[in-house]
Amino acid sequence: MSGPYDLHCHSATSDGHLAPTEVVARAAGLGLAALALTDHDTVAGVAEAQRAAASYGLRLVPGVELSVLWQRRTLHVVGLGVDPQEPGLQAGLAQMQRARQERGEAIGERLEQAGLSGARAGARAVAGSADITRAHYARWMVASGQVRGFEEAFKRYLRQGRVGYVPGDWVAMEQGIEWIRGAGGIAVLAHPLGYGLTGAWLRRVLDAFTAAGGGGMEVACGSSPEPRQVQRLGGWCRRYGLLASAGSDFHAPGDLSSRELGAAPALPGDLPRLLDALP
Ligand SMILES: [Zn+2]
Ligand SMILES: [Zn+2]
Repeated sequence: MSGPYDLHCHSATSDGHLAPTEVVARAAGLGLAALALTDHDTVAGVAEAQRAAASYGLRLVPGVELSVLWQRRTLHVVGLGVDPQEPGLQAGLAQMQRARQERGEAIGERLEQAGLSGARAGARAVAGSADITRAHYARWMVASGQVRGFEEAFKRYLRQGRVGYVPGDWVAMEQGIEWIRGAGGIAVLAHPLGYGLTGAWLRRVLDAFTAAGGGGMEVACGSSPEPRQVQRLGGWCRRYGLLASAGSDFHAPGDLSSRELGAAPALPGDLPRLLDALP
């Protein structure tokens, strides 16, 4: 198939701003032919997105984005084409959500001890029915005037080394890949330039990722839109024989820290497209 598409985005089921139906409507309005909904550690929005996509004639790829640990670093692995009902994946995601809930609470406790009273209740209100994440704390801090912007919330309070940082108790990368593959999906290394890794470390990640059954990597990312970055990622993708994915990592309309749906740069034409390998 051809036409613009997007294989990485978030709804309010995790830390995005729009309901799954609204994300799909936005994608259809932008003329996308295919969309993968890849919420953090949950597939709870997929059924709603599928119903909406059917009404627009848009192809919806069921997806998820897992936070995983490798060598004590947190990496993100997107699973595309997963069966959301598969029991192994369901059990794995339930485990991830417990870890996420505990982390969300622990962050709130630390922030309140540091003088940000009302942090937990505030983030809870922002998150609605979703599990509380750092992004929800950041949005509460912005809305309540504690910081001037989303980025500042991370810089001052939430990133590694700051008072509100709590390391995630995520599963091993190999386990996350196993859950995705067990559910019939393709495991994709998300935004590979987003971890601050040197080329040597990225090579180690890709060695381990491919050995564990990883099948694709994001070459065209909303967060690495420069042609130089796409070329660099394309080179790794070729070297490791992976399928090339493209995704914006959209979270919210007009959000300066994220991209619009479908706004990832174009993939180098010689790379095998992950989209074509999906059922
Ligand atoms: Zn991510
Ligand atoms: Zn994401």
